[in-house]
Amino acid sequence: MQGANFDVVVVGGGISGIQAALDLADQDHKVLLVERAASIGGKMISLSKTFPTLDCSSCITTPKMSAAFHHRNIQVWTSTEVERVESRDGVRKVHLRKHPTYVDNSLCIGCRLCEYACPVEYPDPFEEGLGAQRAIAVPFTNALPQKAVLNPRYCIACGACIKACPTDAVRFDQEEERLTVEAGAVVLTTGFVLNALELKREYNAARSANIISPLQLERLLAPHGPYGRVLRPSDGKVPGNVAFVLCAGSRDQSIGVPYCSRFCCMYSIKQAMLLSGALPTAELTIYYMDIRAFGKGHEQFYQNAKAMGIQFVKAKVASIEPVTGDDLSLRVELEEEGGRVAERRHDLVVLAQGAIPVFEPSKALNTPAAEDGFLRQPDPVRITWTGVEGVFAAGCALGPKDIVDSIVEAGAAAMEASRFLALRAAGGSPGKEPDQLTNPIET
Ligand SMILES: Cc1cc2nc3c(=O)[nH]c(=O)nc-3n(C[C@H](O)[C@H](O)[C@H](O)COP(=O)(O)OP(=O)(O)OC[C@H]3O[C@@H](n4cnc5c(N)ncnc54)[C@H](O)[C@@H]3O)c2cc1C
Ligand code: SF4
Ligand code: SF4
Repeated sequence: MQGANFDVVVVGGGISGIQAALDLADQDHKVLLVERAASIGGKMISLSKTFPTLDCSSCITTPKMSAAFHHRNIQVWTSTEVERVESRDGVRKVHLRKHPTYVDNSLCIGCRLCEYACPVEYPDPFEEGLGAQRAIAVPFTNALPQKAVLNPRYCIACGACIKACPTDAVRFDQEEERLTVEAGAVVLTTGFVLNALELKREYNAARSANIISPLQLERLLAPHGPYGRVLRPSDGKVPGNVAFVLCAGSRDQSIGVPYCSRFCCMYSIKQAMLLSGALPTAELTIYYMDIRAFGKGHEQFYQNAKAMGIQFVKAKVASIEPVTGDDLSLRVELEEEGGRVAERRHDLVVLAQGAIPVFEPSKALNTPAAEDGFLRQPDPVRITWTGVEGVFAAGCALGPKDIVDSIVEAGAAAMEASRFLALRAAGGSPGKEPDQLTNPIET
């Protein structure tokens, strides 16, 4: 099926994609923002507070989501995945797969009556599996669009949602659609995912519900989190002795992630600071190899955490074993004691997992990925150019980075895309006019 034409297609509705779309739309470009999840917002909408300012994350993200969603120059397509981007003969073709949501968005008014009527619950993906979600639901409170989505994996086809819906919006017969849209330029902001919690087998995450991911802790700390307070998952006990294990999926050749994920030191320090507010009597220990607090205000943030009494222990955590009473035993090599091996007990452990790319660039763009698997940056000056004519990228699609750097890069990618369109409109022929089309420095 053939779709519409746009000046720019932005792929990925996280904070980078939202910012790039807004910057382009404000310059009067017609933008399509494509997001494979049911709502825009990316990782940022699920964070509690942000380092280094401890601002409320959803308070910053929600107005930006709304500005993009309601912008006259932006169309937002959610539940839509970009599968392939082609750049040929001066045109970008973006091949899309529109997943069925089993709800007609033009009729759904987001009243949630279907959700209240649905008898089936499953682990809530927005709450990182900690709370419960109904088989048909608006994905989360400030989701955009505010439309219900039915999960066919859990639906038992009881029909209660059909009876409850006042607008007759539920559609069991909706099917997947394949579309191709054309654009002058494309900006890829497909972000990152965390590697699997169970990846390091010696940490035994599969054997204990009390070894959690940092995104789970973000939800536990969020004002509207799954339990309304911080409880450990196995038994609902208030944790009294929490460990953070840094580099638990980065800088580790044995799991194929040799690079630094750049934000884990800082989000772990942030989470420990927020926990010390939520659980004032808890002991909080951060096991680290190095603390990388390189951004503006980050070193002061780190020093503040130390002053608050958070323990920083320079040690390699060799293994984690579940022990009686759902507690955990950590075998640590204490660097400051010449590598002496000690056993430490904790009742909750947070693994700072590594960030890995979400998009397979070689498959999607027919261009080689960089060594780390993220998109290639062949030009050291125009860092947002992917090496493919008219295709730019920003944020964690190019490699892990924090929100501030993602937003700055999104602005740069929008400017590059806008400049590319202007040069084309001025009449050059493909491959000649914009100098970013020539002289790529091979990596
Ligand atoms: C636990 C944790 C805490 C953090 N805390 C902080 C903090 O306090 N401060 C800070 O500065 N940074 C923090 N970060 C980093 C922050 O999350 C990132 O900087 C930010 O999310 C990057 O945004 P992005 O838009 O580049 O990527 P993402 O947020 O990953 O967004 C990418 C979007 O693209 C979509 N997408 C992917 N593939 C496709 C496709 N093929 N088609 C369509 N859509 C697609 C995804 O669904 C997603 O919505 C934290 C990270 C973690 C893991
Ligand atoms: S038909 Fe499915 S989604 Fe609808 S109420 Fe029944 S279980 Fe829930
Ligand atoms: S599908 Fe119907 S009942 Fe459910 S939120 Fe939409 S309008 Fe309301």
